[in-house]
Amino acid sequence: MAEARCPTCRTFAFLETQECDRCGDSIGYHYPSLSFVPAPEGGTEIDGTRWRRCANWPWQCNWLVSSEDESARCFSCRLTRRSPEADDTIALEKLAEAGVAKRRLLVQLLELGLPIVPFHEQEGGLAFDLLSSRSGAPVVIGHADGVITIDLAESLDAHREALRVRLGEPYRTMLGHFRHEVGHYYQQVLIAAEPLLGECRGIFGDERASYADAIERHYEFGAPGDWAANYISEYATMHPWEDFAETFAHYLHITGTLATAAAAGVTLQSELVDDLLVADVVPVDDYSGLGIDRVLADWHWVSLMFNRVNRSMGQRDLYPFTLTQPVMDKLAFVHRLVTAEAQRGS
Ligand SMILES: [Zn+2]
Ligand SMILES: [Zn+2]
Repeated sequence: MAEARCPTCRTFAFLETQECDRCGDSIGYHYPSLSFVPAPEGGTEIDGTRWRRCANWPWQCNWLVSSEDESARCFSCRLTRRSPEADDTIALEKLAEAGVAKRRLLVQLLELGLPIVPFHEQEGGLAFDLLSSRSGAPVVIGHADGVITIDLAESLDAHREALRVRLGEPYRTMLGHFRHEVGHYYQQVLIAAEPLLGECRGIFGDERASYADAIERHYEFGAPGDWAANYISEYATMHPWEDFAETFAHYLHITGTLATAAAAGVTLQSELVDDLLVADVVPVDDYSGLGIDRVLADWHWVSLMFNRVNRSMGQRDLYPFTLTQPVMDKLAFVHRLVTAEAQRGS
């Protein structure tokens, strides 16, 4: 369940909370149990181990770190390999904002049961280079050998929105970048051998096609006119790697938002929604035991509901995408991949 509750008063708490809105207690996130625990300055005892606030607590990090760890930084913060210079306070504020999206990503990966092997434990393990293109050198968002690079300037609304409009994208967020790039990571980690490799190529295309040529073609000619019939986004048409990463990001968008709806107690009553809806829609926080058909059926109605809510506030659609059958087939592959991995890990 993506959102959690205050351990003291049981009030709902957003994932980024450090102080409960209702009772005022300091709370911190204990990632092994995916829940909030009390987080007084001196730390708290959990199963015989002392858990303290992460050293980046003043920078909005609300995760706790075990006293058995050598580091004063939490699991999430230690995944950051490179970050802005210590005197670059503007970039460090953006780093703190990006940390919110990064921790939300990690919570979801843990909930899904996906392996997270840090770069400091294994060559090619997961790492984050969180740097700002406003601080000098250009920063290209991307993934290579486990390292995810994010441009912190993307947390500036004007910067990100200008790019979104220029690139003609219906959706561009920091969380979306994290979900897309981690898709590249999991394609590398989870689809290394047959038969998955061949199956993946059959669905997304052969990833051995030249990436350099693909970029050049994409930025010169754009997506093919009929892209929407087979792809979730124009960017996905560029190369099989991008198609996989875009699909993976959407799998996280969909299951993460359904889990939030479930945690919020959402049920859609069929007789009030639409004549086409024959049974109530009850989203759940864990779809691992259910088929992709159930995920997509729930998402059809729940995303429609959220789009209606957004429009009633004069906002763009929450989920401004159309899922065609070929795209749903790609999502089905990702669902099988993720749930199989979770079963192997448990
Ligand atoms: Zn409380
Ligand atoms: Zn931290």
